[in-house]
Amino acid sequence: MKFKINFLDKLILGIVFLLIVVFLVVVSYTTYATKRTLLKEKQNNLANEAQLLSQQTIASYILGNTSLEYLQEKLDEFEDTLKTKVWYCDSVGRLIAVSYPKNYEYLPDNIRQLDYDLKFRDGFTMTGNFYNIFDNTTISVGIPILLDGEVRGFMVLHTSISELDDTQKDILAIVYLPFVVLILVVVLMMIYMSGTILRPISKISATAKEYAKGNFEATTGVIRKDEIGELADSMEYMAGELSKLDIYRKNFIANISHDFRSPLTSIKGYILAMMDGTIPPEKYNRYLGVVINEANRLTKLTEGLLELNNFDTKGLILKMSDFDIVDVIRLTRNTVEVLCDKKNIEIRINCHAKNTTVHADRMKIGQVVYNLVDNAIKFSPQNGTITATVTNKNDKVFISIKDEGPGISKEKRNKVFDRFYKVDASRGKDKQGTGLGLSITKEIIKAHGENIDLISTEGAGSEFIFSLPIGSKE
Ligand code: ADP
Repeated sequence: MKFKINFLDKLILGIVFLLIVVFLVVVSYTTYATKRTLLKEKQNNLANEAQLLSQQTIASYILGNTSLEYLQEKLDEFEDTLKTKVWYCDSVGRLIAVSYPKNYEYLPDNIRQLDYDLKFRDGFTMTGNFYNIFDNTTISVGIPILLDGEVRGFMVLHTSISELDDTQKDILAIVYLPFVVLILVVVLMMIYMSGTILRPISKISATAKEYAKGNFEATTGVIRKDEIGELADSMEYMAGELSKLDIYRKNFIANISHDFRSPLTSIKGYILAMMDGTIPPEKYNRYLGVVINEANRLTKLTEGLLELNNFDTKGLILKMSDFDIVDVIRLTRNTVEVLCDKKNIEIRINCHAKNTTVHADRMKIGQVVYNLVDNAIKFSPQNGTITATVTNKNDKVFISIKDEGPGISKEKRNKVFDRFYKVDASRGKDKQGTGLGLSITKEIIKAHGENIDLISTEGAGSEFIFSLPIGSKE
């Protein structure tokens, strides 16, 4: 199994490592500092005690007031009470009396045997085993004994510093404890953070993988009111949108297949019928007309799809210019004259605008007007009237194409702009269409940054209104 260290684990390890380093530095420094302070204090104490001893007990021995036995007794007492060994030497370094001499394996006759250069007259302080006399670490303080300004000998006090170690350990314990607590607190905090930050992130990442597999039903399960909750919500929103896109794609393919299959089936059917003689040669012209119609529908469908696909992939590239929209409507009216004549339809142009110049892509707007007028003719009754009205308000020109056809029900009004949507695909007029015209129209208007609306009353006709930015008159 692959061992994975996540981000927070690394952070915890890093911080703990840092804390340990800081801890070691603090401990080493505190050890060094406390040891120094404690030693200094001990040395001062020893020096004071030695001073006291020399002024009282030893001075009275030197002056002949007390015996050597008495001195010995006093030195032993001193060691008993203060746990400090005492050596007393005369002015040339001969060892005269030592507290508990039996406790030593070796004692020199003269202290100079240990170190000839020992500056006992000036006084000294040493830490160690005092020339291998002691087994454990000892502080030794030597001070001269002065009587009436004359050096009459000197004494050395030795005390073991094992008890210093104990004091030091106590002090260090005070330092250790907060550090251990600190490390524990940091680790606990990190574990808590891992639960509150990392777990939801892993959940979100697992859900993202589900989405990548196409399972848009998956949810993150993260319900929070912070940035992580927002991320989870955005992910779920994105999945919702992707799933809509997925449904749209499936419908799109179903529509295309259906729209291609039906003309192909009828073309195939008619040709087969001609080949096997079901349709007699004298009726060929009529049925070939139907075949051509179907083929034209397929061509229109393919062109429409290509056009929409181009909008989607490249975006719409507009060739903007200023032109008169009324000219475009008139031109369209001329183009559809034959169609109008067939149903005896009249196209009226009403112009209530002072300025009918628009700033737009002339070709594309020509296509828009054509699509709307073509639909209006398709749905207009015999002898109907189509009215094209141009108005302007502020910096916009509004163009409306109104017919007297069957109208479009409220719930279908928004859908007519969807790709492939036909109000009633089984109806004769709708059957001919591709369901792409209005979606292309909407894309073109949208690309101009404008809107197209539909006003319709069922049974009374439909009116498509779109706006364009006003242009400047030549
Ligand atoms: P088509 O190429 O099939 O006409 P459109 O996108 O232009 O496709 O139109 C979509 C649907 O909107 C049509 O099938 C039709 O049912 C409805 N429609 C469009 N224009 C009109 C209109 N003027 N009156 C009634 N219905 C309309």
